[in-house]
Amino acid sequence: MAWFRADLHLHSCLSPCGDLECSPSAIAATARERGLTMVALTDHNSALNCPAFSEACAHHGLSALFGMEATSREEVHLLCLFETVEQALEMGERLYEKLADVHNIPEKLGDQVYVDVEENILGEVEKHLIGAVDLSVDEIMALVLDRGGLFIPAHIDRTVNSMGSQLGFLPAGAYSAVEVTRSPCPIATYDYPRVCNSDAHFLPDIAARWFAFEADTPDFAGLQAALATGRLKLSIEQPTA
Ligand SMILES: [Zn+2]
Ligand SMILES: [Zn+2]
Repeated sequence: MAWFRADLHLHSCLSPCGDLECSPSAIAATARERGLTMVALTDHNSALNCPAFSEACAHHGLSALFGMEATSREEVHLLCLFETVEQALEMGERLYEKLADVHNIPEKLGDQVYVDVEENILGEVEKHLIGAVDLSVDEIMALVLDRGGLFIPAHIDRTVNSMGSQLGFLPAGAYSAVEVTRSPCPIATYDYPRVCNSDAHFLPDIAARWFAFEADTPDFAGLQAALATGRLKLSIEQPTA
């Protein structure tokens, strides 16, 4: 068994609020420099940069998970993480179908481009990705768990787009973990395993928060086992980062 550092909440140039510099390749290179072992790409409601992210992570020897930060009908942000790019892309299609039909205006709302591993632009997403999808928290949870993914309510202690801000508390659910941004967390997390991630939208913020998990191998199964048994350490609870 060994401890592995993970940051599983990262945005790329596909998120309208993400920096254009945040290509999947640049994210992987930065994550490697920062000493992370496992990373996940979680753009808002889309997994279209995951194919390039997968290649880039393989190149840098990083273990990668794929998915998105879904926005439920209640405007709650939810991390949906999968073992394979295909699972993430398929989930992304389901969410996109249910996403409000508001067209993105790149000049006003930000670019939403997906790229290849060499940073060539492959396309631009039409609907504004920040909006909510017409699915409840529970419906999104079911879609993720049915596909064997990890379902983690995001930044539950933030003042916007969180369980705390939208509902006032953390309802019971089949969460793989909950993501917190500070310690102590002002929202009760009960017995759910807790993780913290950077939620980076800019390269310098990658690994600003991270967690470590103890496992035999730094892969999806290893992480799942560590979450189930609570073998976790959070950077926000460490004396030194
Ligand atoms: Zn969020
Ligand atoms: Zn985010």
